[in-house]
Amino acid sequence: MSKFSGKRLSSLVAYTPGEQPKDKKYIKLNTNESPFSPSKKAKKEAALAAKRLELYPDPECRELHARLAECCGLDASEVLVTNGSDEILNFAFMAFCDDETPAVFPDITYGFYPVFADVNGIKYEEIPLLPDFTIRASDYFGKKATIFIANPNAPTGIALPLSDIEEILKNNPDNVVVIDEAYVDFGGESAISLIPKYKNLLVTQTFSKSRSMAGARLGFGAGDRELIADLNTIKYSTNPYNINRMTMAAGLGVLSDEEYTKKNCKTVCEVREFTEKELSKLGFETTESVTNFIFARHNSAGGKMLYEELRRRGILVRHFDKPRLSEYLRITVGARRDMEALIKTISDILKEMNV
Ligand code: PMP
Repeated sequence: MSKFSGKRLSSLVAYTPGEQPKDKKYIKLNTNESPFSPSKKAKKEAALAAKRLELYPDPECRELHARLAECCGLDASEVLVTNGSDEILNFAFMAFCDDETPAVFPDITYGFYPVFADVNGIKYEEIPLLPDFTIRASDYFGKKATIFIANPNAPTGIALPLSDIEEILKNNPDNVVVIDEAYVDFGGESAISLIPKYKNLLVTQTFSKSRSMAGARLGFGAGDRELIADLNTIKYSTNPYNINRMTMAAGLGVLSDEEYTKKNCKTVCEVREFTEKELSKLGFETTESVTNFIFARHNSAGGKMLYEELRRRGILVRHFDKPRLSEYLRITVGARRDMEALIKTISDILKEMNV
């Protein structure tokens, strides 16, 4: 900490992204990236856009907004693209929370929410998940706060039914409810269909997972035009050129290749099922994940030990050294051969440990 740091910074605990080590080649199953290459159309458009990097990108992202809105069945004024969905989530904290309106989210969820709150000086309440890691919708009724719910949730992978989300929206008519759908394309049900009915709903999604574009940083928010206008005010007050030319072009490219995205999502779901079955044979229990990751606990081997042994043998998964989570591994669904290697390695570890 420098002697110049302000009060808020000195108490800030920053978000820790999943490790990206370079010491050797790992099978990376720790950051929920896609095992597939980006769409050819995305790569081609990005390469073309790279030829005009002397010019600023379109701050209004007109073409991308129009195409995205069309895909969502919305008007262009009801969507806003951002630098990853992390940025739209941060914008939402900035726009819809203040001293009178704190934030509310589950105690076990995306670890960036408390950091967004802290960095913006926003108070927050964490509502415990039920013992089976599900959300009880009524815990979120009448909160007088801005509500953030990842659906499906992370790192549990469990989805909240749309009917519960609708109840939360109805029971917070004067507050914004943000539904973070980073993983919705792997078997979840999007709340975008509820946007015409609820002016207090903001849905966020990302191109990082199902569209294989984590490296391009593209996400978006969808909601009532007044909410989107507020978020635009934040965007133009922080970084009007938040989407670079190559990312914008790649976004348009991948949106014109929806078949490719759908096929990849289907494969991920199939590989997820295969891996869950194999893990179960080895003595793991898993939550009901509708995402591109598996949340698994072994009936006798500890989570930390398994994480460390896998790492030593060249496989990275995510382990959270926190109450209720420390016995679990969060395992990204990668390519089938990588999951086969994972199963083989876990089986070896368990044999060696005699468990
Ligand atoms: N929400 C959740 C629940 C996530 O797990 C992630 C990925 N770390 C994000 C949002 C942000 O993803 P991105 O910024 O890559 O769109």
